[in-house]
Amino acid sequence: MAILPIIIAPDPRLKVTSEPVGRVDDDARKLIDDMLETMYLAPGVGLSAIQVGVPKRLIVIDVARKGEDAAPLRLADPKIIAYSDEAVAMEEGCLSFPEHYAEVKRPGEVILRYTDERNQRQEFEADGLLARCIQHEMDHLDGILLVDHLSAIKRGIIIRKLLKARKAKALKSA
Ligand code: ZN
Repeated sequence: MAILPIIIAPDPRLKVTSEPVGRVDDDARKLIDDMLETMYLAPGVGLSAIQVGVPKRLIVIDVARKGEDAAPLRLADPKIIAYSDEAVAMEEGCLSFPEHYAEVKRPGEVILRYTDERNQRQEFEADGLLARCIQHEMDHLDGILLVDHLSAIKRGIIIRKLLKARKAKALKSA
């Protein structure tokens, strides 16, 4: 397994629409394992392949709490087939937006269909943090980012801060 570099926004690669995986092969399985290791180390609760520069519809998620057993989800070609009507506001973070959090309204429950790492079709119902995480990561597959759910003003503030942090980091390593 390997730790992969996570792309930090703003970056045009994060705006790309990812391609279907189709059949999960050994390369995809290795990528999934590397993504999980990268996510756990960050630490985060979800990561999409595009965040490590691979434009494939692959997502890893683990919303287990501290002290609970790890519960990794490996999702290929995920598709939400039903949403609940009511929208819930919840604060979200993103490994591509380090140290930034924003409240986003999304449906509270979803039904997800996907292909697992053994190429079996699976389906489950999710609510709470898991439903939130699924929707956030699925946005990534279509090039939609956390800040795209915010007003232009809030988005501008976050992007400027990220650019400033990037500049400071570049100066430090120069
Ligand atoms: Zn994200």
